Formats: sequence, C-alpha cells, structure tokens
Amino acid sequence: MKCEKFVAFPIFSVFLVMGFVYLVTVFIFIEDWKGLRSTAGSLNAMIFTVLASLSLLSFLVCVLTDPGGVPPAYMPDIEHSGDSDPVAKKSVAHLSHCGKCAAYKPPRAHHCRVCRRCVLRMDHHCLWINNCVGHRNYKAFFVLVIYATVASMYSSIIIVLWAFQKEFNFNGRTPLKIFYITCGIMIVGLSLTLGTLLSWHIYLITQNMTTIEYYEGKRAAWLARKSGQNYRHPFNVGGYKNVTLVLGPNVMKWLCPTAVNHIKDGVDFPTARESL
Ligand SMILES: [Zn+2]
Ligand SMILES: [Zn+2]
Repeated sequence: MKCEKFVAFPIFSVFLVMGFVYLVTVFIFIEDWKGLRSTAGSLNAMIFTVLASLSLLSFLVCVLTDPGGVPPAYMPDIEHSGDSDPVAKKSVAHLSHCGKCAAYKPPRAHHCRVCRRCVLRMDHHCLWINNCVGHRNYKAFFVLVIYATVASMYSSIIIVLWAFQKEFNFNGRTPLKIFYITCGIMIVGLSLTLGTLLSWHIYLITQNMTTIEYYEGKRAAWLARKSGQNYRHPFNVGGYKNVTLVLGPNVMKWLCPTAVNHIKDGVDFPTARESL
C-alpha cells in the first residue's frame, strides 16, 4: 500500500532530477575534468556516489514514514492545562478540537487538507515527498535536505573546477556548450535553493519550531505586543536541547535518517515553562 505513494508526478520528477544530476556529474563533468580512471576522478566519483545514495535513502525514508496520526483515544488534559479559569479551559478544549476529524488533537498537531487527517507536530505537507512532514519523518526530511544540499554543492564545485580547467575553450561546439552551461546553471540553482531551505530548517530546529508555528508565532507576537506583553515560543527549551529533540541525543547518529528511537509519542512535548 505504501508503494502507492510513489505513483505521483512530483516523486517521479525528484527521481528524474536525482538521476540526471548524478549521471551528468559523474559521467560528463568528472569524466571530462579528471577522467574516471584516474585516482582523483574515481575518488570524486566515489564521494559523490555516497552523497547521492544517502540523499536517495533519506528521500525513500521520508516518503515511506508515516508522519504520525492522532491516537484514537486521545483526550486533551484540560484540567492540568495550567489555567484555573473555566473560560480559558473551554478555549483550550476548543483549540484542541479538529472539526474536520471530529476529534481532539494534541498540541502541535494540525489538520492536513491533503492527507485529510490531523498530523502530529505537523511542519508542512510536502508535494515532493507526497507526504506530510511531521513528528516521525521530520528528522529524515531534515537529513535529506542536508545530503541533497551537500551533494548539489559538491556537483557545483566540480562544474566550476571543470570550467576553469577547460578555460571555456569549446572550439565552437555550440550545442554542447549550451548543454554544459544549462546543466551548470541548473545545478548551481538547485544548490542555492536547497541551501536556503537548509538554512531555514536549521533556524527552525534551533528554535524547536515548525513552519506552521513560525507563522502562528508571528501573529501571537503581534497580539502580545499590542497588549504590552512579550511572546516566547512555548516549546523552545534552549538551543542544544531543541536540536537533540529532533536529531537525537547521540551526535554520531544525527545524520542517520532512520535513527529515531529518541522520538516520543508526539502527544506531549517539553515546554519552556516546565524546564524553568
Ligand atoms: Zn483533523
Ligand atoms: Zn499532509
């Protein structure tokens, strides 16, 4: 049933782009730059193959991992919500109810219109993985962005080194020249796009924030300012702790997309108030 997830145009496009970048980098640019039979050429091809394989593995994990749905028996703990005011309790109950699922949802869960259900610690619905990015696959998604950024930057550097070696001497082979330049622009553009995405998620992880919470937080901060108060993201428990909550306590396993034993049920999350 999970294999059905692969039957989607964006997924097909990702495979196509991955395959194209890999073949062009190894069999055109590395081959023409150093030659695949030379030590430098085969070493670069090997490093790039490892990076491409890790990107592909993380991509498959992202597509196949269920981001996490709300347990059927879930009920919000309104009595211990920290507010003794009955009106505030009612508001907590209202906020934690999803009208579309006709069920309660835990903090940080959101309803995804595409998946048609509430997803735990939802970040966003990603077309390119045909899946929601949520509690259980956020680490794999982040690791995928790291590997894909490093791989495309590696490829861009090889193209630049190759271009310097060639000294742009194409001897009038115009169609080939256009092909090389198009590939170069495409791969450099891909690295910049992925690099921007990576920087954004590094920021979110250090703040223990999801993309949805970032936008919600901007509104909450504006409302707080209007009433002369300060808003602080409730799940921000400190830089390093925030990072370990996503990537895990063992630094050696940070870049492994399947090392997710540290991930809890996705219903309760430590808050800044508890860690005071
Ligand atoms: Zn829902
Ligand atoms: Zn979704």
